[in-house]
Amino acid sequence: MSELLIVGAHVVDPATGVDGPRDVLVRDGRIAAIAAPGEFATLAGSLPGELRIDATGMVLAPGLIDIHVHLREPGQTHQETIRSGTAAAAVGGFTTVVAMPNTTPVNDSVAVLEWMLAAERGAAVNQLAMPAATVGSMGGELTDFRALQSAGAVGFTDDGKPVLEDDVMRAALVAAAEFGVPVSQHAEDTRFTGGCSMNAGRMAFRLGLRGMPVEAESRIVERDIRLLRDIERVEKLRAHLHVQHVSTAGALRAIRQAKAEGLHVTCEAAPHHFTLTEEAIGDYNTNAKMNPPLRAEADRRAVVEALLDGTVDCIATDHAPHASHEKEVEFERAPNGITGLETALGLALRVLHREHGMPLSRVIALMSARPAEVIGLRDRGNLSVGSWADLVLFDAAAEWNFAAKDSRSMSRNTPFDGAAMVGRVRATFCEGRVVYRG
Ligand SMILES: [Zn+2]
Repeated sequence: MSELLIVGAHVVDPATGVDGPRDVLVRDGRIAAIAAPGEFATLAGSLPGELRIDATGMVLAPGLIDIHVHLREPGQTHQETIRSGTAAAAVGGFTTVVAMPNTTPVNDSVAVLEWMLAAERGAAVNQLAMPAATVGSMGGELTDFRALQSAGAVGFTDDGKPVLEDDVMRAALVAAAEFGVPVSQHAEDTRFTGGCSMNAGRMAFRLGLRGMPVEAESRIVERDIRLLRDIERVEKLRAHLHVQHVSTAGALRAIRQAKAEGLHVTCEAAPHHFTLTEEAIGDYNTNAKMNPPLRAEADRRAVVEALLDGTVDCIATDHAPHASHEKEVEFERAPNGITGLETALGLALRVLHREHGMPLSRVIALMSARPAEVIGLRDRGNLSVGSWADLVLFDAAAEWNFAAKDSRSMSRNTPFDGAAMVGRVRATFCEGRVVYRG
């Protein structure tokens, strides 16, 4: 039996409503008890020093959960590996990450999925995966949802590519509903975005680049919602649509309405979309290029509003590492994506908590309890007795500046090099083990 006692922290656990000073006892990797300060005094006296952590002045919360990351393995290990990406996750306070399937080969089979999830990959934190919804993510034939789900799939997605065909998306939603997992959609009507490398508008005009219209996102979201409604009416089946990295006011409006209607729609927002606008591209900065692109200020504000009013279910980073030589090319040729695991909490606390007054417990919920619900995790994302002792300990008031050169990721493609952060992770525990200590 192994024990760990964390005393003196301000515990914030949105799932159980705890928001105050508590001591936390961990036994065999799980939460054994949470009690008022000092209640474990006798036990504390008998535990060796290294098993007692004085967390006075710190916030202790459920380990963060990111349901949208690219770990680049198998196949693109010059950008990231499961080992390096999950190490970066631990630094950022994340204890569970969900790997996207656009690896090489594509994660569309049990063989690839099992290879990714194998202990030999050396994941520092709990790694889960969403395999492809269609074979090769080509948008045609569905993958074997049944086999993949028994092998650990927590959802299905052709992330990076939308499932465009109505029939295929409908079939995916129906099949996933049978297993109680979401179909996670990259909402982009690519028939309107060919050759585009940023958001359509003033900035694209000035830079002379083709821009993606905001409607390319909302059209797919609206189509998917129509499919959900139809499935519920015709098949009497409650399918679950999850919309990835929503970036536009129009898509958020459609999601808000669908939720009010009672459909099972969830969505995520990425820190860069509530922090930056297309202005960050400046003079063709490829580290501000991602898909969906940074939008105009009105859309950024809409994402913040939707986070504040609960339309957005969770924050996800879309951590997408690329090597420097790949990003150091003309803007239009540069690949999409930025790293995000080490800056997510600092940006969420700065923008949502400090600038917009979102209570700390809500920020934590968006990064733990809520994403856990989206993918159906019960014993993570909360500090209930019996749940895994996945924990993040952080100094909520600390102000610091992120330095890309210090990143644990193998890649440095971030627009947040030098950016101001609020809240600094001091330690991350996964299943009771220390996986990061600052
Ligand atoms: Zn992605």
